[in-house]
Amino acid sequence: MTRDDEILAALAGEKKINSDQAAEILSAAKFTGKPVGEIILERKIASDEDLAKLKAGIFKLPYADLAGREIGESALNTIPAEVAKNYRIVCFERQGREIDVGMIDPDNFKAIEAVDFLAKGAGLNVHYHLISEASMALAMKQYDTTSKEINKALKTREEFVSSASGKKSEEKDKAVKIEEVTKSAPVVKIVSVVIRHAIEGRASDIHIEPVGRESRVRYRIDGVLHTSLILPLDVHDSIVARIKVLANMKLDETRIPQDGRIRLTIDDKDYDFRVSTLPLLGREKVVMRILDVSRQVPNLEELGFQGAALELTKKNVTNANGLLLVTGPTGSGKSTTLFSLISNLNKEGINISTLEDPIEYMIKGVNQSQVKPEIGYTFATGLRHFLRQDPDVIMVGEIRDTETAELAIHAALTGHFVLSTLHTNDAVGAITRLVDMKVEPFLLSSTLRLIIAQRLVRKICPYCRVEAKLPSDFLADLMAALDSLPPEYRRAQLKDAKADKLVFFKGKGCPRCGNSGYAGRLAVTEVFEVNEQIRNMLVEGKTVFTNEEISRTQLFITFKQDGYLKVAQGQTTIEEVISVLSA
Ligand SMILES: [Zn+2]
Repeated sequence: MTRDDEILAALAGEKKINSDQAAEILSAAKFTGKPVGEIILERKIASDEDLAKLKAGIFKLPYADLAGREIGESALNTIPAEVAKNYRIVCFERQGREIDVGMIDPDNFKAIEAVDFLAKGAGLNVHYHLISEASMALAMKQYDTTSKEINKALKTREEFVSSASGKKSEEKDKAVKIEEVTKSAPVVKIVSVVIRHAIEGRASDIHIEPVGRESRVRYRIDGVLHTSLILPLDVHDSIVARIKVLANMKLDETRIPQDGRIRLTIDDKDYDFRVSTLPLLGREKVVMRILDVSRQVPNLEELGFQGAALELTKKNVTNANGLLLVTGPTGSGKSTTLFSLISNLNKEGINISTLEDPIEYMIKGVNQSQVKPEIGYTFATGLRHFLRQDPDVIMVGEIRDTETAELAIHAALTGHFVLSTLHTNDAVGAITRLVDMKVEPFLLSSTLRLIIAQRLVRKICPYCRVEAKLPSDFLADLMAALDSLPPEYRRAQLKDAKADKLVFFKGKGCPRCGNSGYAGRLAVTEVFEVNEQIRNMLVEGKTVFTNEEISRTQLFITFKQDGYLKVAQGQTTIEEVISVLSA
């Protein structure tokens, strides 16, 4: 009888399942590859704790319940967090040389080997216990310093609330009470821990939202939201109120959305938080966008520009006049690229003005202005004013209407270098989009200099990079794209051009990348220059271009070619490239 059979037989003995169900669970386990225990829990045949007790009986191990138990630091750190998370084992008690270790699956010999190895090195005696999934989750949480600090703050808050509510005037003045709460030490502490951990984790945004009976805190890191904390719902309103106070918002207004900002200095660096609230069924959601004011603008190479794209871009940012466009959907890193270009142009003797929404980087010596459409200060009105301010270089956050398009073209025609972004999927789409906005093709022929289209993909974490195999159909697609490149270009980009010598990588996940296997992002690009041939076609009234037509006029590397090159170079994974190509 296997362990699985024993577990199912024990459940049958308790009349929780019949023999048909037992057989069905076994085949489901085989079919899905899930452990039998997981299926039992999913189908609610036994509770998490009951299953752990039952398994403890079968494995002849003591059962331990870690609910509500605070694990001492010395016990917890007997097994490093990484090992504990990987093997799902935890040390929950340490008395002298004796340690108590909890596990879910005693058949996991690798876990036992790892613990025995650690224990032997430290001269410790191990006592194994069987614990439930819930106990394991609780124990893992204690490794997380964020939850640790928050839990501490929550505890003092409970004491604070219970000592305050012991008095009779509980219902008195709610507004005054919330004012007090926002200043109470635990709430202040929770908010500051949430903010500090976001910065340490390189998050770009913090979301604090009510979900069911909890308040959820999520961080956006490298474009992906990760749940970082779950707090009791009763602190949600105090946390939101505290943030609203910091952001200078109206505390008593909870029915309409509000915007505000917070300036903070953390570890000698200045941060700007753009805060917005949204009313959601009686409670508010808060989103904070983090702007590191002192951060350096990355250069083009750091952004992921390489090969033909890099050369063409460098060649064209020295232009004295004309229009340069960066295109892509929201969140494709367009404005970072614009800033990188601008910081290259930023010298004394050149007047650079920008119109932005929002301001994402602060650059010394550049006149940066934030548009406010609600008071009539739009990209178009701002641009009109700019032209009176004798600028050399103008950056307009986005061209999204005919008026802005006309003004940008006018500025480019009258001797200015204009940089802006457009919302299009690919590089050739930019021309069509401008023509749709009623710009005459002949005006484009005399102003357009360069079009950059881009997408962001996540970079493989350098700390846990391992070789990976590509599925054969992916490999065929990738090889076809690489084969379509000019051979000498392909050789220059990939040191070894032979298909059977290509090596691919992935991140297997480690603590430094939060187990995602990725760290940081890079751009996949498509860049073309509006050269004489394209100018002539525009003058003749051609408004729709294909990638093939552009390729006939210059070395044009498409998204697919650039993305797959970056996979073959080991910078990113094929999954990342495919997901941005199909988006
Ligand atoms: Zn990693």
